[in-house]
Amino acid sequence: MKRALKLAGITRASIAPVRMCCERNVIAALGQARKRYIGRILCYHTVGQSEWGVNDVTPSQFRRQLERALDAGFNFVPASEIVRTGGGPKDLAITFDDGLKSVLTNAAPILKDLALPWMFFPVSEWSDGRHTMPDDFVLSWRDIETLLAAGAEMGSHSATHPQFNCIGASQMVDELAGSRELFANRLGFAPETFAIPFGQSGNWTEDARKLARDAGYLTIYAQAEETRPTDTVARTFVTKYDGDFIFDALLKGKFDSWEEWF
Ligand SMILES: [Zn+2]
Repeated sequence: MKRALKLAGITRASIAPVRMCCERNVIAALGQARKRYIGRILCYHTVGQSEWGVNDVTPSQFRRQLERALDAGFNFVPASEIVRTGGGPKDLAITFDDGLKSVLTNAAPILKDLALPWMFFPVSEWSDGRHTMPDDFVLSWRDIETLLAAGAEMGSHSATHPQFNCIGASQMVDELAGSRELFANRLGFAPETFAIPFGQSGNWTEDARKLARDAGYLTIYAQAEETRPTDTVARTFVTKYDGDFIFDALLKGKFDSWEEWF
């Protein structure tokens, strides 16, 4: 069967986005809304870089989601405020993982226009030019400085974006402490917050948790509310498939036990 699917050009990689799309629609329709007592931190990736696949939202989709949330009475606050105080049930925060260019070119102008606070998590070696992506695909140090000067908060998303459950302790130290060091060298400060690459509960081990503390990280951002590892902060992922129907559902907590499984 596997071979037949392969011959027909149907591979796991090509099915995965279709499966995710179906899954999100089903959860939005049939999932259970949760009563909310604290704020919610949204996790975006790119805004108009379609190469990022399921994690890319278009600029118009992004603006529409923010305006929709504002119309529904949500209040945008810095992610650090939700971490510090828990926030209220109508508080939302915006974060971006991976540090790709469209955060500067497409997302930041929309956020400025709406006067909303936000946070981003670049991958330090990528921003230092060590990656295989096209030219001008990743935020440069200068880009990052521009965003910081405009008031964005920043944390680390590791040195090279590995799956922490697949690497040993010494590589974890390189990814955690090494990333802080490079940020400090290039930007003059070492971030104290960290977003787990891929962010799935299985990506974060007990070793990683301890080594992150040893490296000086005070806050670790993860994925879903109900599945996040110990001592991490939950975030709600927003995907390419999230039109009004799914976006409204995620604000109602229907995705609080959903993890992106790539
Ligand atoms: Zn990432």
